[in-house]
Amino acid sequence: MVSVCYYVKLFLNRAILYSLEVDNMLNNKPHIVVVGSGFGGIKLCKLLAKEDVEVTLVDRHNFHLFQPLLYQVSTSVLSVDEIAYPTRSFFRDNKNINFFMAKAKGVDQERNILHTNHGEISYDYLVLAAGATTNFFGMKSVEDNAYGMKTIQEALAIRNHVIHEFERADKPYRTPEERKQKLTFVVVGGGPTGIEEAGAISELVDTLKKEFHHLDFSNVSIKLIEATGHVLPMITPDLQEYTVKTLRDKGVEVMLNTQVVDYDGKVLTLKSGEKIPTSTVIWAAGVRAVDFIKDCGGECARDGRIWIEEDLLVKGAVNRNVFAIGDCAAFMHGDMQRPLPTVAPVATQEAVVCCKNIMKLIHGEKELLKFEYKDLGAMATIGRGKAVVNSPKMTGFIAWCAWMFVHLLRLAGAHTNFTVAIKWMWNLFSGIRLGRVITSIKLDSGKLTIKKVEEDFSHVKNVNEGKPVIWK
Ligand SMILES: Cc1cc2nc3c(=O)[nH]c(=O)nc-3n(C[C@H](O)[C@H](O)[C@H](O)COP(=O)(O)OP(=O)(O)OC[C@H]3O[C@@H](n4cnc5c(N)ncnc54)[C@H](O)[C@@H]3O)c2cc1C
Repeated sequence: MVSVCYYVKLFLNRAILYSLEVDNMLNNKPHIVVVGSGFGGIKLCKLLAKEDVEVTLVDRHNFHLFQPLLYQVSTSVLSVDEIAYPTRSFFRDNKNINFFMAKAKGVDQERNILHTNHGEISYDYLVLAAGATTNFFGMKSVEDNAYGMKTIQEALAIRNHVIHEFERADKPYRTPEERKQKLTFVVVGGGPTGIEEAGAISELVDTLKKEFHHLDFSNVSIKLIEATGHVLPMITPDLQEYTVKTLRDKGVEVMLNTQVVDYDGKVLTLKSGEKIPTSTVIWAAGVRAVDFIKDCGGECARDGRIWIEEDLLVKGAVNRNVFAIGDCAAFMHGDMQRPLPTVAPVATQEAVVCCKNIMKLIHGEKELLKFEYKDLGAMATIGRGKAVVNSPKMTGFIAWCAWMFVHLLRLAGAHTNFTVAIKWMWNLFSGIRLGRVITSIKLDSGKLTIKKVEEDFSHVKNVNEGKPVIWK
């Protein structure tokens, strides 16, 4: 009986596979491969979903991450599922958008092939939207010992570590020096991420003050280090001053014109020679393109971003079919001195033009649209109920309401909008942060074995032969 069932199941599986393969052979729609399900990649796929094309969206993770709120996970306000969403759920009604979870490794532009750790994928058009990673500017010791702020894993690591440092400092056997080192938190980088992180840590400390009954909180020190003479370079000097003053009022020591040169995990060394004993350095001082971009066959800027033309095609590409958008692309408007910043509106606005240009090429048009960036202004929170907005100029609570409204609108899904809005209101009035849980403590040996499964798929050749990869 068991073997009859087995053969029936085998026959049905084969039949389904065969019909999908036939479907694909008959389907001669242009095949677009998009690498990265970030702001740029998701926006592009949503637009392509309405077109008569087949799309394969490749990402190493199965989720889209709302990076601007990572700092709220790292400081116990929000939980992971409020800022990360399963990519497949965006396209459940779009049969022409197929998700393929894999790590992209490089591009063979001569053969129109994307290399991944699960084999090769051939494309008619390729869009690189793989984003950026932390830039430690070649400081190996800092890279080895500081926390980055680009991934969900890093945000959780910071949350676990910061809360744990309070527990460790609370032990009666600590010397005063050890306690001070554990309670010194350094954030490097005066951009929006650094400002938001430093402000949020100071508020987390306010919550913990009420719960650690024996700990002397005069030992707590939060430092924000910035190499230039000002914070938030994209806003006006008066707003910068307001930001620094608000942070100082919250107990954050803002150190401008200060450069980090070394960090061994215990002591942070500044260019001036000053040494700061600390076991927590959060690095929010710069980004560079993800490593994969350098293997895509284009010319790259110093920060690894691939240069693109005004029509968003990769500069010097072998064929006119490789585009790049968002943080991994370096786009220079005519008279600009430096490429566009790595912010979400650049990625989403480029996605719109990229979609139009791909459709133009598919329809045989030679003349493509030129990308024009519309700057929508900048904003940053400086903690609970306080923010700065530069266009129109606002500060304080009104600016915070504007910040909250814009971020709620940009979050994916009604459920998340609802839970995040409730948590922000709850936090505003009570200061409560419910996510103060340490989840990284190792279980006793033998109770749980986590195996690292790393398969090698480099031998797999062309998984789709020019077609979408759904049936593989
Ligand atoms: C902490 C923080 C705060 C920020 N705050 C703001 C803000 O307030 N406002 C603002 O406008 N911007 C902000 N940004 C920047 C903004 O998040 C980025 O500009 C935006 O995410 C860029 O979108 P993207 O599509 O280019 O790349 P991303 O959103 O980074 O997406 C890239 C995707 O590519 C995938 N990927 C990478 N490498 C590979 C590979 N080899 N193979 C397969 N997949 C790969 C990644 O998994 C990811 O899903 C912030 C960023 C951070 C980190």
